[in-house]
Amino acid sequence: MPGFEVINSQEKKAVSKIFDEGGVLIAHGLENKRKKFYVRDFEKKCKIFFNSKYCLAVSSGTAAIKIALKSLDVKPGDEVITQSFNFIATIEAILDCGAKPIIANVDYSLNMDPSEIEKLISKKTKVILPVHMLGVGANMDQIKKIAKKYKLKVLEDNCESIGGKYKGKYLGTLSDVGIFSFDYGKMITTGEGGMILTNNKKIDQYCREFHDHGHQNNPKFPRGRDTKEIFGFNYRMTEMQGALGKVQLKKLNFLIKSNQARYRILDNTIGKKFKKRKIPSNSKGSYDTFIFFVDDKKKREKILDLLYSSGIGTKNLPDAKEWHCSYYWDHALTSKQIKNSIATKKILDNAIAIPIWVSKKEKEYRIIAKSIMSL
Ligand SMILES: *Cc1c(COP(=O)(O)O)cnc(C)c1O
Repeated sequence: MPGFEVINSQEKKAVSKIFDEGGVLIAHGLENKRKKFYVRDFEKKCKIFFNSKYCLAVSSGTAAIKIALKSLDVKPGDEVITQSFNFIATIEAILDCGAKPIIANVDYSLNMDPSEIEKLISKKTKVILPVHMLGVGANMDQIKKIAKKYKLKVLEDNCESIGGKYKGKYLGTLSDVGIFSFDYGKMITTGEGGMILTNNKKIDQYCREFHDHGHQNNPKFPRGRDTKEIFGFNYRMTEMQGALGKVQLKKLNFLIKSNQARYRILDNTIGKKFKKRKIPSNSKGSYDTFIFFVDDKKKREKILDLLYSSGIGTKNLPDAKEWHCSYYWDHALTSKQIKNSIATKKILDNAIAIPIWVSKKEKEYRIIAKSIMSL
């Protein structure tokens, strides 16, 4: 599943090389002190790989969501529609902009239910923020159609499905702006880190300035005399992370291929016997999680026991449900929003998410599938 499993001497070498090529420096500038730019290079590689006109590396996925929301002019008083099966970071980023999160339920695809969106739109709505959960893309055609009808912007949170595609295009590149996370649990990792992807020059420009204290990196001036129009914050990625990212990106296709082989084993066995997660047509995932539903509580518990004793475990469902379902977020949401999330909670209550580990052999997945089938 995640990139941390395939970290080896290549990453170690890439980071230690920095010390021979100028030392630990900021992501840009100081040309006379260095031979290499790692973060800027990582961005260039991502632009080509994901076919996105602009890519900006930042310090985390959460920072990426916040900066992207601000680039879409989300301000205090605005509303942003996101979803109930999610990660708390999305809600935090919306609240940090002073805006109000509005929660749509998910359906059995475990992604935003497009039929929920229209009833949630108000005069204050500015952005729809679908989250491509656990390896599978949301129904982007329907979401974009609604956004167009109401003149809303779309921001894709693609922290959890890096490398997945929808209608042949990489998730995170299908709307106004998309974001990735490279934290330790994601498809590729830089320890901490994030990326903002867009085809819109103005959005990229805003994000670039905001993440670097408003610096315009005006080529006519040295950094100390740089021009500025907005103030921002420091959400820069470090050169060490940039070096890691470059190596990890090269491993992404291998990770997806390995995931897919293991996923298929589960899909062809468990997927035939149990109700499984609905995958939209035209969608190609990153295959890092296989999700199915078991209504019978006793049986569900037996399956979970098997998964935990095998060392494979579960991924977020049910082990980290409280961090991924808005029903549990009374520290951040209103009681009405919590109550509206009950439909999602009911779906998630019966779900089991099996993580796909690259370090676990295909044989181990065959064995666990057989054990689950024979219960
Ligand atoms: C991981 C994750 C984030 C946050 O990313 P960080 O890099 O850890 O800040 C945001 N949204 C989703 C859906 C995630 O899974």
